[in-house]
Amino acid sequence: MNSKIYLSSPHMGGTEQDYINSAFKTNWIAPLGPNVTSFEEAIESYLGKDSKVAALSSGTAALHLALILLGVERGDEVICQSMTFSASANPIVYQGATPIFVDSEPETWNMCPLYLENAIKDRISKGKKPKAIIAVHLYGMPYKVDEINAIAEKYDIPIIEDSAEALGSTYKDKKCGTFGTISILSFNGNKIITTSGGGALVSKDKAVKEKAIFLATQARDNAPHYQHSHIGYNYRLSNICAGIGCGQMEVLDKHIELRRQMNLFYKDLFSTSEGITVFTEPSDQLRSNHWLSCIVVDPEKSRFTSEEIRFALENDNIESRPLWKPMHLQPVFKDAPYYGNSVSEGLFKKGICLPSGSNLTTEEKKRIMTVLTQFV
Ligand SMILES: *Cc1c(COP(=O)(O)O)cnc(C)c1O
Repeated sequence: MNSKIYLSSPHMGGTEQDYINSAFKTNWIAPLGPNVTSFEEAIESYLGKDSKVAALSSGTAALHLALILLGVERGDEVICQSMTFSASANPIVYQGATPIFVDSEPETWNMCPLYLENAIKDRISKGKKPKAIIAVHLYGMPYKVDEINAIAEKYDIPIIEDSAEALGSTYKDKKCGTFGTISILSFNGNKIITTSGGGALVSKDKAVKEKAIFLATQARDNAPHYQHSHIGYNYRLSNICAGIGCGQMEVLDKHIELRRQMNLFYKDLFSTSEGITVFTEPSDQLRSNHWLSCIVVDPEKSRFTSEEIRFALENDNIESRPLWKPMHLQPVFKDAPYYGNSVSEGLFKKGICLPSGSNLTTEEKKRIMTVLTQFV
């Protein structure tokens, strides 16, 4: 059997181990320390625009704290992009609030501004104004920032920007992770950079960063004994994991270039294929990190389905995966309200993600090419 080719596997730059060694040498084996601080500073200078970053144990934890910081409570409603990974929506339920799902538009596959406004108007007419909007840059593709922001401003609703998949992507030359009232990042094992597990909360307000760290470290009041006036969480990032992050930040831009080359690899491969569309930026104002490269297969034109491609790849031990199944179609969210027109459903039925890692070898690309060429 050929060795397995993954969709997206960790890709170390080389210096990660040095940061880990220094944590051991100085005995900072804790969820705080010099690597945590350096990692936060590295992300802050990368994002620029006065970004303040709190390093956390996961992107999910960052979303949870973002909701708390925006005052989301039991009985509230929060709007969320339907086509996303479940981690975007789960923290709404942690807070006892109700997710309201909104469909995608076909250009960026992200939140549709028209259905967003429909949803807001309808919820308000039913007596409840949504407390927040969770918009996602899926697969690294920036959502329609100007359009979504304009609606959020019109109705005065804060945006939580889920940039878990989009570190390094840009919209009108500004970095994703800087567009939300609060933004979040993820450094899970499969993301564009990894700390094995980790995440971050980003804000322009230093007080928000400090409050996030306060809540993430069990909400200890300023007192010699342990004194608490809030419910706290254990959500801070380990100094060991942050060391991996410090090393990864050194190679982030290089790895983004390699992911973008993978997208070009698929565009070349399918350039003459009828019925296969490689997901790329709709305009040069958007620049995706192409965390994952995806294709949509129209079986009427191609005469085969995305599932047939997936099985052929699987036969050669190459991983691929259908696109995110929209949240409004998930059994766990079957009762949640949904506003849309089946765009995300259509994408889910016809699309797959292909191996996209920055560390794919020439040999591995050849194997992928050999399997896919049968479909060209
Ligand atoms: C990975 C991911 C998350 C969650 O991040 P974790 O660090 O795995 O908790 C949230 N939203 C999206 C869109 C993701 O892809």
